[in-house]
Amino acid sequence: MSAEAVAGAVLVGADVVALVVLPGAFRAVFSPPLRPVGVGVLVVVTGLWLWLALVRGPGWFVVAFCVDLGVSVVHTVLALLVRRVRPLVTEPLRLSHFVQESARFDGPQSIGLLVGHTGAVFVFVAQPRLRQFSATLSGSVCLFCFVEDQVRRLVGEDAPVVAEYRGHLGAGGNRHVILRRGSSDAPWQVRLADRKAYRRVRPAPTCPVHGPLTAHGRPGPPAGP
Ligand SMILES: [Zn+2]
Repeated sequence: MSAEAVAGAVLVGADVVALVVLPGAFRAVFSPPLRPVGVGVLVVVTGLWLWLALVRGPGWFVVAFCVDLGVSVVHTVLALLVRRVRPLVTEPLRLSHFVQESARFDGPQSIGLLVGHTGAVFVFVAQPRLRQFSATLSGSVCLFCFVEDQVRRLVGEDAPVVAEYRGHLGAGGNRHVILRRGSSDAPWQVRLADRKAYRRVRPAPTCPVHGPLTAHGRPGPPAGP
């Protein structure tokens, strides 16, 4: 087989991989919380690939890529619209069960929890399959308590990251809690990520713990005489 034929076969393989990966990449990048860097990278890579396909062909790939791209865009727009019109409302216990169940599966694990200013909780789990969505909890549960509870149940009751999380909230900075481990029996690594677009802290006025911590920007008690 000539070098040219090998290069051609490699290119066709890469094209097929791109077709398979594209819808999943759209789903991951446009699921909340949205990350501008991820969106930017996807737009640049997709544009570059399309341009290359137009320049070098083959024709079938250009057509397939355009169809794949169109379906991915329409699916993403519909998913965003449906989520806007009808947010997922779930019981705190049910969502907690979902998060904790994810930690029981084998393989590299990753769990992300972020309290949005709108009152939704952004959830990410890697096991048993990649799921990323935002949910509104029914009842009057404190969303920060919910997140801390998940962390304690995974990492341990005395997880120091809870104090660190509260420190950030008290300083007026919301954080994305990310828990990772290489396998189901490895210790968790916890990271508090600063997401620029979700930095604003949602007040939790009814919670005795998080109420005072999240009172930034709300009118304080009336001044005494
Ligand atoms: Zn609370």
